[in-house]
Amino acid sequence: MRSESFDYLVIGSGLAGLTFALHAANHGRVAVLTKATVTDSNTSWAQGGIAAAVGESDSWELHERDTLVAGAGLCDPAAVRFLVQQAPEAIAWLRNLGARFDLELGREGGHSRHRIVRHADKTGWEIERAVAAAVRSNPAITVYENAFVTELLLSDGRCSGVAAVLGDMGMRSFSARAVMLATGGCGKVYAKTTNPRVATADGIGLADKVGAEITDMEFMQFHPTVLEHPQMPGFLVTEAVRGAGGTLRNHRGDRFMYDYDERLELAPRDIVARAIESEIQRRDTWCVYLDATHLPAEDLREEFPTIWERLRELGIRMERNWIPVVPAQHYSCGGVVTDLNGSTSVPGLYAAGEVSRTGVHGANRLASNSLLEALVFAKSAAAHAESTRELTNEAPQARSFHAIQENEAIRIRHRLQAVMTKHVGVFRTNAGLASAKEEVDHLIADYAGQPSAPFSAYAIECGNLLTAAKHVVEGAIRRKVNVGLHFNADQERATPEWETPLPSVES
Ligand SMILES: Cc1cc2nc3c(=O)[nH]c(=O)nc-3n(C[C@H](O)[C@H](O)[C@H](O)COP(=O)(O)OP(=O)(O)OC[C@H]3O[C@@H](n4cnc5c(N)ncnc54)[C@H](O)[C@@H]3O)c2cc1C
Repeated sequence: MRSESFDYLVIGSGLAGLTFALHAANHGRVAVLTKATVTDSNTSWAQGGIAAAVGESDSWELHERDTLVAGAGLCDPAAVRFLVQQAPEAIAWLRNLGARFDLELGREGGHSRHRIVRHADKTGWEIERAVAAAVRSNPAITVYENAFVTELLLSDGRCSGVAAVLGDMGMRSFSARAVMLATGGCGKVYAKTTNPRVATADGIGLADKVGAEITDMEFMQFHPTVLEHPQMPGFLVTEAVRGAGGTLRNHRGDRFMYDYDERLELAPRDIVARAIESEIQRRDTWCVYLDATHLPAEDLREEFPTIWERLRELGIRMERNWIPVVPAQHYSCGGVVTDLNGSTSVPGLYAAGEVSRTGVHGANRLASNSLLEALVFAKSAAAHAESTRELTNEAPQARSFHAIQENEAIRIRHRLQAVMTKHVGVFRTNAGLASAKEEVDHLIADYAGQPSAPFSAYAIECGNLLTAAKHVVEGAIRRKVNVGLHFNADQERATPEWETPLPSVES
């Protein structure tokens, strides 16, 4: 098998991977391996923006408090402080790379101030454009597209390389002194998700195989307002529409959030998602509606150009029609455990972005903190990786992967998504979780028992989705009180001091 040697390897070309690559490139040669094109990532799809205390009446202390409140007592306070203190500098770094942001700051649920740095409703696209351009023009960085990483390679207990299948060129191994895992989310564990097709939990599968610590996967965030339309499944209608004054109505036209939380439509996401799910079940309907018809049409078109256009393609006019919405999987708060340097429990292996669990989100992520987390921790990981001693770049041996026939993988994946959506969604029960565990274990055995087939990305992804699902289900079973995003109808709600109400939102 051909092998290549670099100083740093990066798996994934979202904001976390490319940020790491740009910082690490100051100290050595970097390879970025990404399984589709560079811009195929959750990052490109982000609409709302990046949270940073850069407004006049804001401070990192307020950002810190809002993050801790959303995280429901389970955040790592040191990680949160590190995150919010670095935020203004991270924004300045992006601007320096050429990212363009609006003059006005946005406001989202759970934030006590206007602090969302954005580019209309395509912030992720703008950021990805800027960082990808910087990466392409950096001679120290080599990008491999269509490079599917199948394995992390260890030598002497240290991660020192990866194996990847490179398009038609077949399997290749890469070695380096540090490997950054930046593979993003795991939305495809569920039938309904806002995540793009690449979000198949590969990082969780890769890390699990080398014994890296993984935790908090039960804290799965469901975005409350995802378009319910067969022609555009998973299309997100950003929280910023509610921030701008959009209201939620049930099929009778009632503003039902009055029945659920005093913060109404700007309550944290888990509360809004559960309220919507309750309303759908209680009224036996298939969705609720986001009403922006009272907002000036010109403002809507200017602030939400993507949403405005996409809805129009479906015959929905934001300024005239209510938008049908449901909750759908959106973000994984848990993942591969890291410290403030992005180091995982496996020496030489770093993780950043959505695949990681840095401790900043606790039991629930505050809106627009994830792009920030990717920026901040990828940078600290690059600094730490640089400070580690030089190691001989010895190409470790790759094992062969277990791919199965694609049609079997499709069957298993769809069954998994159905089980997870039914039993491990916004509402959970003891019986549902027990049944999910049985089914997931059965599907894992089913996958393992299938005869080996030639490489298929779809099949390998299926194996990774199964691993992630196992972590989600087992985490949910272990979690004995309802906190943040985890809600089991058969359990008591945690009532610790974090339930203090949010400070009033500035007008
Ligand atoms: C619709 C939507 C809207 C959002 N809006 C916001 C927002 O407004 N603000 C906010 O802060 N967050 C938002 N988020 C969340 C945020 O976008 C993500 O958490 C963040 O972009 C994750 O960045 P990342 O670099 O970790 O992963 P990603 O951007 O997902 O990148 C992961 C990369 O890894 C690659 N990869 C995966 N597996 C492999 C493999 N086996 N081999 C090689 N490459 C692989 C993928 O192809 C991809 O390039 C949103 C998410 C979505 C889906």
